[in-house]
Amino acid sequence: MITLQGKGVSTGIARGRLSFLKRQTLSVEKRSVDNVEQEVERFNTARQTAAAQLDTLSSTMLDKIGEKNALLFEIHRMMLEDTDYCDPIIEIIRTEKVCAEYAVNTAGSRLAQDFADMDDEYMKARAIDVYDVSKRVVEILSGEGQGLSQNDEPVILAADDFTPSETAQLDRNKVLALVSRHGAANSHTAIFARTMGIPAIISFGAFLSGDFSGKQVILDGETGVLHIEPEPQVIWELEKKEAQQRQEKERLEKVRGKPTFTKSGRSMKLYANIGSVSDADTAVAGDAEGVGLFRSEFLYLGRNDYPDENSQYDSYRKVLEKMGGRQVVIRTLDIGADKQVAYFQLSKEENPAMGMRAIRICLTRPDLFKMQLRAIYRASVHGNAAIMFPMITSLNELRRAKELAKAAREELEAKGIPFKADIPIGIMIETPASAVISDLLAKESDFFSIGTNDLTQYTLAIDRQNDAIASFCDTHHEAILRLIRLTCENAHKAGIWCGICGSLGADVQLTKTFVDMELDELSVEPSYILKLRALIAEC
Ligand code: PEP
Ligand code: MG
Repeated sequence: MITLQGKGVSTGIARGRLSFLKRQTLSVEKRSVDNVEQEVERFNTARQTAAAQLDTLSSTMLDKIGEKNALLFEIHRMMLEDTDYCDPIIEIIRTEKVCAEYAVNTAGSRLAQDFADMDDEYMKARAIDVYDVSKRVVEILSGEGQGLSQNDEPVILAADDFTPSETAQLDRNKVLALVSRHGAANSHTAIFARTMGIPAIISFGAFLSGDFSGKQVILDGETGVLHIEPEPQVIWELEKKEAQQRQEKERLEKVRGKPTFTKSGRSMKLYANIGSVSDADTAVAGDAEGVGLFRSEFLYLGRNDYPDENSQYDSYRKVLEKMGGRQVVIRTLDIGADKQVAYFQLSKEENPAMGMRAIRICLTRPDLFKMQLRAIYRASVHGNAAIMFPMITSLNELRRAKELAKAAREELEAKGIPFKADIPIGIMIETPASAVISDLLAKESDFFSIGTNDLTQYTLAIDRQNDAIASFCDTHHEAILRLIRLTCENAHKAGIWCGICGSLGADVQLTKTFVDMELDELSVEPSYILKLRALIAEC
């Protein structure tokens, strides 16, 4: 047995086989073959396997990315049956007497280039689809996995680190836990794992060797310990701990369905953080009183192109309906920094966390922003929605963002499309600047939600993605607590509510402090809700 110590970022015990995420780019070799018909047959079999994968993907991604986007997989599948795609591949195999991998890669690249050279923007964009399909077929032919969703059995997934796009596409039924060499506690991977209730450990460094691939392991997401080929005694102890955790969960069931009150009888709200439509089910199962942070940018990740207005509308509508009248705070696009999406074509920056991200992108690309705002407003008739702008640092930014919301409403009105005009518009307090001027911002906002993940990184000047400086990050730093207190006081003076949606909201060591500060809401990963409700009742 080998024992490794990492940093636990999402609690829970998991036991299973360790599988490393395969994502390396394939190098395709030109290999001569004698039996060309056998090679054509190999190509046809790979084509069928790819079609079956795409069918599965299309149905499993439906909830995450909406019907219209899931259709993309359907289009990819149809391409595999198209003679324009298949015939040139077969011809290369037969005329050049080469392996199927090379033929797919060559013919696929030519076809992709033909699309890329077209004048029509839509057709141009199809080049990436041809590339994707070809990559899938080549990976099947060469025995490489497509990454996250192709494992037959659920596994403990390992990687150097997981990108937010990868985590957005994770098939939660096939991933028992996540382990990585790098990463940070407040990275979106860690946040995502907590939202999903998937145990996760990061920062193993090089100790998490590829040699462990395929081995049986057991891990504890609380202590951050990973045992490879564990001894029976270790399995017994961790299974005992798991049973205790189950008992604790059963004990907390007694506060399910109850409102949240402090010891002195003051009401607080416990909302959930979500990143996808299916997370809304987790929020309901976790007994959330609402959604305090819908990270809408997750709808933009793991894709080749912008989600259009209708598909966004579908997602917001579904979440609102699932939450059945409970408030859903939709945070507008927070792309940039660690959440990079190729099709946004953002320039490379030295300091992306301090660069073109979040509201800055939205104010720079008003059409994109208005499309999202129209989708939210359209969905608003199906529930209790609120809009929240991320990364606001000044009154001017808030005013410009609100102007664009007004423009989006006017566009809908002009077309006679129904929407709720008066849904609350709030902001995230994620920078020291916004906390310091929260008295001014409060006069023009309907609510505040404090994003302590970014507030911490910008206040302490500690990159939240950089695990090398994690030891310098004191999340309980007095500066952070003062900024939270100041923000909450200014909100109350202006008569608006103030909550926390950063990870600090779930830090039980601070629950009493937050109750004393009279915060109105905590928005946390769903699995923390019952625990916090029971704790708040004692504070
Ligand atoms: C935060 O910064 O605290 C926050 C909730 O936003 P995100 O973690 O998505 O940056
Ligand atoms: Mg943030």
